Amino acid sequence: MNLQTTSAVELQRLLNDGSLSSRELVDRCAERISDQEPSIGAFLTLSLDTAKAEAAASDERRRRGALLSPWDGIPVAVKDNICTRGLRTTCGSRMLERFVPPYDAAVVERLRTAGLPVLGKTNLDEFAMGSSTENSALQRTCNPRDTQRVPGGSSGGSAAAVAAGESPWALGSDTGGSIRQPAAFCGVVGIKPTYGTVSRYGLVAYASSLDQIGTFGRRVRDAASLLQLIAGHDARDSTSLPAETLQLGSDDPSVRGLRVGLPLEYLEHGLNAEIHQAVMDAVRRLEEAGAVVQELRLPLTDYAVETYYLIATAEASSNLARYDGVRYGYRAEADDSRGMFEMSRTEGFGDEVKRRIMLGTYALSAGYYDAYYKKAQQIRTMMRREYESAFEQVDVLLTPTSPTTAFAFGDKSTPLDMYLQDIFTVTSNLVGIPAVSLPCGEDSHKLPIGLQIMGPHFSEARLVETAEWLERQRNGGDSHDL
Ligand code: GLN
Repeated sequence: MNLQTTSAVELQRLLNDGSLSSRELVDRCAERISDQEPSIGAFLTLSLDTAKAEAAASDERRRRGALLSPWDGIPVAVKDNICTRGLRTTCGSRMLERFVPPYDAAVVERLRTAGLPVLGKTNLDEFAMGSSTENSALQRTCNPRDTQRVPGGSSGGSAAAVAAGESPWALGSDTGGSIRQPAAFCGVVGIKPTYGTVSRYGLVAYASSLDQIGTFGRRVRDAASLLQLIAGHDARDSTSLPAETLQLGSDDPSVRGLRVGLPLEYLEHGLNAEIHQAVMDAVRRLEEAGAVVQELRLPLTDYAVETYYLIATAEASSNLARYDGVRYGYRAEADDSRGMFEMSRTEGFGDEVKRRIMLGTYALSAGYYDAYYKKAQQIRTMMRREYESAFEQVDVLLTPTSPTTAFAFGDKSTPLDMYLQDIFTVTSNLVGIPAVSLPCGEDSHKLPIGLQIMGPHFSEARLVETAEWLERQRNGGDSHDL
């Protein structure tokens, strides 16, 4: 069995028919991790001993016929901004380098009650701020497809762990593309669900009105199944939606009659020709199978990056005020308390985090609030209306996930160059709608290209079905095994 290519669905079958035990599976992941980590660096903290014990307990439950869920025994990796009780949770920051949470995030509770062993915590841009994982203060993560290149970000560690065969699937968080863009760069599937679908309790806050936990998998069905497992109401997150089981796509996905929108703003302005071609190939296949494709315009796309970077930084400046050297994390020595606050934040945060705290504080300050923050909120409302009216005409929107494929370390030399990476992914967070990224080809450097499918609120089932149909087309009919 080649772990690197086996889907969670296939692993489930092997566990069920007795040809694999959870303990064997976790041992294989551990071997793969020790083999790959020197060149990939996906994990900040490993919890393999615990995972092995959890796997043995899962095998024992299987013998007794007392499985906790259909996915009992399949291990998972967790992004390191999601709290794990007794297991260090750093957010890729010096500030929290030694922080050991006293509680599990809601999603981690759900993993545990479903019997999934946790392999470890994955690297990220500091506090999830970035698009390449280069902003991690603790470690570099390389793209398994080409180790000279970034894995994307901010959930670069989770995407790399899945792509490198270290973990069958993983959790990430997505505030403006942090699941979908690394999924695209590493050639795996990523899903950001509708805002409110997954509890944020225990997710270290970056920009609370945009943050959402989601999943990575090697196959659409894997990422969707893991999402189903972590979704659901949680009273501890005030934005959590009422309970409603998330539906998966049907076993026999179809796209006949599907109304597909192609927003022209996502395809022009000199988009990389190979990415354009890969998206158009997917469109052609959908059309041949009976989908109705329609071009449309979403003019507010031109304001997406500005709007996102005002709202996200404003919220970050408030959320990150709690790191004061007293309540959490790193504490600097100084003569008085004011000096201690200042030096703790000066030494504990990296440059990008400081830049965003300053930008956000500026946008919220008296005199500039109306000109920046309020205006951004108004555009956000207009964007929601723009998307609502688009979804009166079409069922899904098809776009590239990212304007480029994986770039080399250091390639994006200014903050603005990096921010522009997010042009296609931030709007779904601003509007709160679900979006999937799946592999849709390779460029001439053999780097994966990601296709993004967006739909209206709660359209996860349709997105998964469409994505799974496209995946089967590419894999010659089989979505579970390569
Ligand atoms: N790249 C975006 C940012 O830096 C998105 C990050 C995210 O989704 N966490 O803010």
